[in-house]
Amino acid sequence: MEETILSVKNLNKSFGNIQTLFDVNFECQKGHIIGLVGANGAGKTTIMKAILSLIRSEGQITIAGQKSTFNHHPILKKVGALVEYPGIYPYLSGRDHLKLFVDKTNDSKERIQNVINDLKLNDYIDQRAKLYSLGMKQKLGIAMALINQPDLVILDEPMNGLDPQATKDLREIILKRRDQGMTVLISSHILGELQKLAEDLIVIDHGKVIKKTTMNELLASNQHFVVIKTSDDVKAQKLLEIVGFKVVSQSPLRFVLTEENTVERLMNILMKQQITVTDFQHEDADLEESILKLIAE
Ligand code: ATP
Repeated sequence: MEETILSVKNLNKSFGNIQTLFDVNFECQKGHIIGLVGANGAGKTTIMKAILSLIRSEGQITIAGQKSTFNHHPILKKVGALVEYPGIYPYLSGRDHLKLFVDKTNDSKERIQNVINDLKLNDYIDQRAKLYSLGMKQKLGIAMALINQPDLVILDEPMNGLDPQATKDLREIILKRRDQGMTVLISSHILGELQKLAEDLIVIDHGKVIKKTTMNELLASNQHFVVIKTSDDVKAQKLLEIVGFKVVSQSPLRFVLTEENTVERLMNILMKQQITVTDFQHEDADLEESILKLIAE
């Protein structure tokens, strides 16, 4: 049975007279990776800050069954977070930061070393943080969010400033921790990366939740295309259009696939007219296209 670890109910937030969040409602299930997506200024960071009691807001936040309010939020001890910039002290080393943040238990040294290994921080963890690059600071911030093996971790644009290898390392550590039961609420504009990580999606636009879905459901609702090269593209296009295939580009020839207009039907029609297919490719729209379509709607 699924267990709700985070519930956000009727979350409203105004900065002065300007309302930023409008009745935001959603739930996160334990052990899931939930992507929070939306355009710049949609309200993703504000939602995360409200959950973490970094700002005052109206509404109910419940974490692991406990109400969390701006003034009373002991449950946040079980939540790791990296929102906006990591809080870094320039004259302390990376390891000192981890020592400051780690819960003092018997295995705290081991936990520090594990997170250093997982995020590949070994080379510079004992240098002062003032020497760190943007990406190194970001990785340290992620290490601080994960150090106490939180049940829930909230990451706002964690791939900011990370190189491809570090992005992959981050993906691997998130997936590993997810497999151990951690829940992750993550925002990112790098939708290709989010596509590899998140199973649930919450789409925010102008401070409202416009869609709650799963990655699979959203991608399945996408259009599918076929791109072909033939011995006679002009004739192939004419023939296929006459029988109802929708062409979306001519060079190369790209058609929309539907339940009726299948690859098999397309091939049969061309074969009957002795048109040879010399190249063939299946294309699916990706997360970026789906989100843009949703927001446009
Ligand atoms: P991005 O993808 O650019 O990070 P976001 O979805 O995280 O955007 P938020 O940072 O939550 O968006 O901002 C939502 C809205 O709230 C924006 O219009 C922003 O200008 C406004 N806002 C955020 N913080 C404040 C603040 N401290 N004072 C006034 N307005 C604010």
